[in-house]
Amino acid sequence: MFREPVEDGLGPLAGGWLEGAQHCPSPNCDARPAGNEVKLIVVHAISLPPDEFGGPGVEQLFTNALDPAEHPYYAAISPLRVSAHFFIRRDGRLMQFVPTDARAWHAGVSSWNGCERCNDFSIGIELEGCDTQPFEPAQYTRLAALLRVLCAHYPVEAVTGHSDIAPGRKTDPGPCFDWQRLRLALDLPKLACGPASGTV
Ligand SMILES: [Zn+2]
Repeated sequence: MFREPVEDGLGPLAGGWLEGAQHCPSPNCDARPAGNEVKLIVVHAISLPPDEFGGPGVEQLFTNALDPAEHPYYAAISPLRVSAHFFIRRDGRLMQFVPTDARAWHAGVSSWNGCERCNDFSIGIELEGCDTQPFEPAQYTRLAALLRVLCAHYPVEAVTGHSDIAPGRKTDPGPCFDWQRLRLALDLPKLACGPASGTV
């Protein structure tokens, strides 16, 4: 019997929930429309408050628990109903908010390889980060391990950035994200992995 690989203490996927991740279910998800299988993975970056790390803001945003009075920025974003499947902390800790078989609300208006609405056929992974500070080695290691598990489970064709499927609207994962470093850590040479994967 085929057994899915276990990477870095992660896996397998059981009902769309990854063993080894901290599960924190978000209500901000729904079923993928019929006929959509996962073929794309979208890398994002987020920090709440902006440029600050380590707080509970991202978890609160994805579970509709952000207090609009806590920070001026939160007043603007607390009504949003958003989520991602995964969130990787600065120290590499992995949280999961949405089962991978379901549709998370991470990409918004987007297009990849001629297909609109990337949420329908993608998995979204948020890294705790911003546009001005390098990502941590532990984040690349954990992201690579997570991608290997997901690529063993789904017919993933490419890994790309949010800014590449929503150009002009989104900048993440941003200039500090090192795609070459990810490719080396990933060691899946046949997988399209980078900013231009499938966007032309
Ligand atoms: Zn994003």
